[in-house]
Amino acid sequence: MGLSEIVGHEKQLETLRQSFLTGRLHQAYLFIGPDGIGKRTLALAMAQAIHCAELETDFCGACGACRAIQTGNHADVRILEPLSNKKDISIQQVRELEKALSLRSFSGRQKVAIIDPATLMNWAAQNALLKTLEEPPQGCVLILIASNAGGLLPTVRSRTFALSFAALPRQLMVSFLISRKGKTKEQAEFLAALAMGSLGAVTKIDKEKMIEKRLEWMKTLSSLSAGDYRAALNAAETLAGNREETLKFLEWAGLWYRDLLSFRIAHVTDHIVNIDMLPQIAEQAAGISEDDLFSLLSKTGEASQLIQRNVNRRMVLEDLLLRAVERP
Ligand SMILES: [Zn+2]
Repeated sequence: MGLSEIVGHEKQLETLRQSFLTGRLHQAYLFIGPDGIGKRTLALAMAQAIHCAELETDFCGACGACRAIQTGNHADVRILEPLSNKKDISIQQVRELEKALSLRSFSGRQKVAIIDPATLMNWAAQNALLKTLEEPPQGCVLILIASNAGGLLPTVRSRTFALSFAALPRQLMVSFLISRKGKTKEQAEFLAALAMGSLGAVTKIDKEKMIEKRLEWMKTLSSLSAGDYRAALNAAETLAGNREETLKFLEWAGLWYRDLLSFRIAHVTDHIVNIDMLPQIAEQAAGISEDDLFSLLSKTGEASQLIQRNVNRRMVLEDLLLRAVERP
């Protein structure tokens, strides 16, 4: 492991690397950017680079200190996040953090506090943190993580060194998924498109076995030919089996109709999510009008909302899929 193995964010990494090399880390950082693109990973990497027993200004990922930080068990590295069952980070938690930061470091190196997401500190908590930001105890690095700066007090923001992070470029994610996660090119293309620049989202999509399921779903939707009401009713019955699955299906079906629409309208493939199903997309798009696609797309969204409100799943799906076969 090491800073060089972090995926993407080269400019930000270079800034941090320079700070490490010159021994001039800021006392408070604000990592800002979309969720799931590696901000916390990088914050932990910084903590590891400070504490690694093997390397200077970088980290090995294998020594005791590196592993303790990775598992959240290092005495000098704290992560502040909402307690379980709580929605925000409380003033109490911030006070405890301040106290911990004012004590001597166990390792003799800098203490690190990661607040993630910093926007979940309520106003009182943020005000309490101001004191620490104004007069940081010696040898501390604070890293605030947020998807946007909107929820932060301007006074908090202005006392941090902000690094902005962007979603990872699709091609970078694809090569990472192939070389490091053992995905095929097709799987990687699909995951990268669906995850929209977030490696965190990839893990989630992967766990839900979306890759396997959507093949089935695609076959079901593609087999619904105009006027085949029986097929639509059968499909509705199959897909209504389980609430979570139904919602997942609808989420995917929305993407599928959007893919058909972008292919039909623009014939460009840049924004297509199910990129590995391009032949089927081309075939399906040719047999359906734009109006029908728009209508199905909005109906898919409505169906999802109805099911979340516990309207009968089979009824909702029948309504949607009958609309799919009901074309001239
Ligand atoms: Zn190490």
